[in-house]
Amino acid sequence: MRHFAVVGSGPAGFYTAEALEKAYGDQARIDILDRYPVPYGLIRFGVAPDHQSLKAVSKRYDKVADSAGVDFIGNVCVGRDISVSELLDLYDAVILATGAPHDRKLGIPGEDLPGVVGSAEFVGWYNGHPDFADLNPPLSGTHAAVIGNGNVALDCARILSKTRAEFEGSDIVGHALDALDRSEIQTVTLLGRRGPHQIAMTPKELGELGHLEAAVPVIEPADFPPVAADEPLEPGLRKSVSLLRAFADLATDKPKRIVFDFFAKPIAIEGDGRAERVIVERTVLDDSGAARGTGETYGVPASLVISAIGYATSPIDEVPFAAGKFVNERGKIADRLFAVGWARRGPSGTIGTNRPDGYEVADQIAAALAPGSSGDRAGAQGLKRLLAERAVMATDYDDWRKIEQTETGRARPGSPREKFVRHQEWLQTIGR
Ligand SMILES: Cc1cc2nc3c(=O)[nH]c(=O)nc-3n(C[C@H](O)[C@H](O)[C@H](O)COP(=O)(O)OP(=O)(O)OC[C@H]3O[C@@H](n4cnc5c(N)ncnc54)[C@H](O)[C@@H]3O)c2cc1C
Repeated sequence: MRHFAVVGSGPAGFYTAEALEKAYGDQARIDILDRYPVPYGLIRFGVAPDHQSLKAVSKRYDKVADSAGVDFIGNVCVGRDISVSELLDLYDAVILATGAPHDRKLGIPGEDLPGVVGSAEFVGWYNGHPDFADLNPPLSGTHAAVIGNGNVALDCARILSKTRAEFEGSDIVGHALDALDRSEIQTVTLLGRRGPHQIAMTPKELGELGHLEAAVPVIEPADFPPVAADEPLEPGLRKSVSLLRAFADLATDKPKRIVFDFFAKPIAIEGDGRAERVIVERTVLDDSGAARGTGETYGVPASLVISAIGYATSPIDEVPFAAGKFVNERGKIADRLFAVGWARRGPSGTIGTNRPDGYEVADQIAAALAPGSSGDRAGAQGLKRLLAERAVMATDYDDWRKIEQTETGRARPGSPREKFVRHQEWLQTIGR
């Protein structure tokens, strides 16, 4: 029997477990570890609560967890409760699927002022991440700015602009829904260093902005190159740019506005003890397509500033780390140690992009440890013994199902599903 530990229960972890299960059948035991008693990583804590159809991918992961050879061991933080070398003693291979949960820093003066938050914090707050339950983003001003031109920036702008009714059927947490309902924010400015042709926004997410109940996207037609320049763009980007062009024709007769400010590079955040404005330098594109400052600056009012410029993996002791991710060659970090998903590639791609990653690494493992061969590692038994000695309260998938059923049971008809937002609530639900 072979024993494999997959660290992280987001998409990358589940796809890897699925691939290993297919490769080894009943010749392997696969344990998916997670620092939380609740699985799915960013599917639960990142993907927007009003995108329920995307979150439904977790049903596929449930099937993996239900496989005879796969176990979920929650509430275990690798690097804190157990080290990677201890896992390598217990398992034939260890696969790190720990994602990239930290915001990249802006690196500009004023970014530590109250009122400036990272998108991981803001998104975590409305998605019920226990670390951000007390974020209380300032929503009493009339202006917010979101720095970044990707889908996460769009998520933040949209969530700030929706009405309470528009969250029906979502799983936004109650504390965020109430706060957003009281929000005074009328204008959200999306700041991008480059232009409409350089956005990393996909058509579906962009298109939603054109159909909001109380908010309208606002765009400056002069920011676009001539229409003929759209022709060589990759089809997805071309569609996104067409949507942006169409925004310029929308009537601006709704109370809230989402303003696209292109060629706008944030150089400082200013305010009297808290964020009041982002100072922006106008840019132009140079021949290589990079943004070059023109020296012209202006202020964008914002008492809430959300930076959505990318994420970094958390380092783990003993694991080589550089440029925001684990150092790896096609997923391999060292003998019997691998990385998949955002911990391997950095924060890019969709949920589905993590699937080939997991399968590629499973193939490499199967090539090195042929299915049918056996090892003598202790696997889960050894892990659970060690965790018990350390008084670490590991949880399993049945515990998660109890949590999930209780969360679903708490929902009132017609209102968003209620999620537990604190670690303690999870553990109480399962009687610990
Ligand atoms: C705000 C946001 C919105 C997104 N929206 C979409 C979308 O609409 N559509 C789409 O296709 N993609 C979307 N994505 C991208 C998608 O979420 C990622 O591609 C995917 O989640 C990455 O998977 P992962 O498994 O590598 O990481 P994660 O999903 O982050 O999973 C990592 C897991 O590892 C666990 N972990 C971390 N450290 C440890 C440790 N030391 N010990 C034990 N466990 C640990 C975490 O708890 C977590 O469960 C979005 C991303 C973000 C940030």
